[in-house]
Order: sequence, then C-alpha cells, then structure tokens
Amino acid sequence: MKYDYVIVGAGLYGASLAYLAKKAGKRCIVLEKRSHIAGNIYTENVEGIAVHRYGAHIFHTNDKKVWEFINLFGEFNSYINSPLAYYKGKLYNLPFNMNTFYQMWGVIRPEEAKAKIEEQRKARYVTEPRNLEEQAINLVGSDIYEVLIKGYTEKQWGRPCTELPPEIIKRLPVRFIFDNNYFNARYQGIPVQGYTALVAAMLEGVEVRLETDFLADKQKWLSEAERLIYTGPIDAYFDYEYGPLEYRSLRFETEVLDTDNYQGNAVINYTEREIPYTRIIEHKHFAFGQQPKTVITREYSKTWQLGDEPYYPVGNTENQALYSRYHALAERERKVIFGGRLGEYKYYDMDQVLARALETASTLGLGL
Ligand code: FAD
Ligand code: UDP
Repeated sequence: MKYDYVIVGAGLYGASLAYLAKKAGKRCIVLEKRSHIAGNIYTENVEGIAVHRYGAHIFHTNDKKVWEFINLFGEFNSYINSPLAYYKGKLYNLPFNMNTFYQMWGVIRPEEAKAKIEEQRKARYVTEPRNLEEQAINLVGSDIYEVLIKGYTEKQWGRPCTELPPEIIKRLPVRFIFDNNYFNARYQGIPVQGYTALVAAMLEGVEVRLETDFLADKQKWLSEAERLIYTGPIDAYFDYEYGPLEYRSLRFETEVLDTDNYQGNAVINYTEREIPYTRIIEHKHFAFGQQPKTVITREYSKTWQLGDEPYYPVGNTENQALYSRYHALAERERKVIFGGRLGEYKYYDMDQVLARALETASTLGLGL
C-alpha cells in the first residue's frame, strides 16, 4: 500500500488524526475537497480581523486532555462567550440566568425567579418531555420559551418546536446566578492566531491535497490505503443508497463596515420569527480587536439540498433510524473509519470531535 492512512477531510477530526499518524511515523495524505484546510472552523483575515467564514466558533471544554491537546497547536485568548438576544426592541442576556430573569420579569432574587418559572410551567408540566417545546417550558417557563426560544429555534431548524427532540435545548445552561457565560466549561477561548493557523500547525509536514474530492476517485484511494479515515457525510460515502439524511444548511451574508464597533458584542441572536436571520456575528469582538473597521455576518438557516453544505445533522427519530442503517453499512467497510460531525452524523462540538479523534487514535495505536 502507498499510504498507511488516507484521510478524507482537513477539518478538526481529520487534521488531528493526520497529526497523530504522522507523529507515529505513518505515511499519510489528507484529501480536502474545498480550496482550504480547517473545515468549518476556517478563519480568514479580512481587514486584520479573523473572520469565521462558516459561523462563529468558540472553543470550550471540560476535558483537560482535549484542552492540553489543542493547546499544542497555538495559544488561546481569554474570550468568554456571552451572547445577547434581541426581541422586539429589547435585549436579553443569554444563556438563561438571573440577568435574563431580571430583564424578563423584574425579579431580583433567585427564589422569585424560580417561583415565576414554577408558576408558568405548572400548567403545562410533563414528567418526560417528548419534544423541544415541552422540554423548554419545563426548564424556563412559557415567557422565555415564547420570547427567546420558539422563534429562534423554528428559524434554525425549519420546523415547529413540537417536532424537535428535547436534547437540543438542553445544550443551553439555566442558572440562578448572574452569570452570562454561555458555556459550563472549565476551559474556553479563541485561538489568538485564528483557527486556520491552528489546523495548519496540526498538518505541518503532512501532504494535503486541496480541491480533491475523494468520492470522485473512491476506488483508487481505497486501493492505495491501508486504512482510510472518512470525515465527510456518511450517506454521501454510500452514494445515498437509502436516501439522504437530513441536514440544516446555512447562508452567510458578510459585510465590511466603516465603523470600529457595530453592535458592541460578538454575537447577537435575533429570536423574533419575523427577522429572517438567526444571529449577527461581529468577528473582531472574539479577539478584542481594535481595528478601525469591522466585519459582520448575518447567519440564515436553510433547508439542505444536495449540493449545499451540510452544517447540522438533524437528530430526530427518523434520521437516527436512517443513520443506523448507514452505520450498519459502515461496519462492513473494514478498512474505513467514519469520524467527525458528518461521518458520525452527530451534533458534536469541537471538543467532542477532538475527544473522538483521540479515542480513535488510541484504538489505532497512535498515542499522543
Ligand atoms: P468539518 O469541519 O465539517 O470537516 C470535514 C471536512 O471534510 C470538510 O473540510 C469537508 O470539505 C471535507 N470533505 C467532506 N467530504 C469530502 C470529500 N468527499 N472529499 C474530500 N473532502 C471532503 N463547535 C464548538 O465547539 N463551538 C462553537 O462555537 C461551534 N460553533 C459552530 C457554529 C456553526 C455554524 C457550525 C456549523 C458548527 C459549530 N461548531 C461549534 C461545531 C464545529 O464546527 C464542529 O464540531 C467541527 O468543526 C467538526 O469538525 P469535523 O472535522 O468533524 O468536520
Ligand atoms: N436557542 C434558542 N434561542 C437562542 C439560542 C439558542 O432557542 O437565542 C436554542 C435553539 O434551539 C438552538 C439550541 O438552543 O438550536 C442550541 O443553541 P446553540 O447556541 O448551542 O446552537 P449552535 O451554536 O450549535 O447553532
């Protein structure tokens, strides 16, 4: 075989495995169909600002091993994500915490906030929430659900909250302290040099072929590889044999503005159904930028169709069932490992992708 590892995808998962394989002395090559490395965490320099081309990415984790691993490749700043939500002319702090409860109801003390939520959820409480709406009302009551969750979620996922799994909303913390940190994470930050530099450091010394679609030459690459690591969509690998899995795609509208500060925060969510975008990102605030100009991106969610970028797996029961069928096919591809957000069809954050990559590396005997 020409290669010990052919790695499909130069995103975080593929790049981590390429780094570990190279370090273990393996012959490897990375194939990437885009014209750049780093997958969805790609950042590019515009007016001296690191622009997150595929949506805002904030690294956060509770996993010390993952944090130490990612820090091998570059320094992180001390950014803490504290997005705001805009609804009908008012701003609310996220995630749901005492600041939000104060802004919503004027309550000052935690027990007043708890009483307010209790009063609202009593009427509609269900022991085992079956969908996102029931879960959200159980967690924060109906006012917050109506103002901060319903419109945003329905734009984001393109379907009613009653048809979405409860897990999605459990991603967000609910706190009875005044704390706007969006994540419950011990470690958090943004790479000082941008994510692309971080991934470039992982890939140093590894052969990377850009603008190379593995699926266009699948048999050739398989025949040259001892093992193949595939981080593209699992359904695409099997030529959509059972039909496509469902994804959400995104459209980004980016503008350079001739002002040094447009919205005063890195992320503002627009939770009204009537506003077509879900959020506006002002990139410089991720890195405390002082540039004279600013770059903003409006993010619109859209239905995925063949040819669009599949950003989010839609993890409802039907898609999980379809994924299980593809997973069964994948188990038969003895030399192929399916990894990453698309290869495993899981709504993984970056730290989860890294944890999975480290696990895989260890089963392959590619230690740190
Ligand atoms: P990807 O980055 O998708 O990499 C896969 C690569 O494979 C791509 O470059 C693709 O072009 C390539 N590829 C696919 N098919 C082929 C083929 N046939 N041939 C060659 N190449 C191929 N996570 C966080 O932790 N914090 C955040 O704040 C955060 N924000 C996010 C915001 C948005 C809008 C999105 C969409 C995701 C966010 N994430 C966040 C999740 C994060 O992006 C992922 O966890 C991570 O990037 C996944 O890495 P990956 O390597 O699995 O996939
Ligand atoms: N969410 C919401 N209102 C908000 C922010 C998030 O209802 O202002 C919900 C929405 O359903 C979203 C989920 O919480 O899909 C998870 O949010 P997160 O910010 O983790 O989503 P991501 O950054 O992955 O798009």
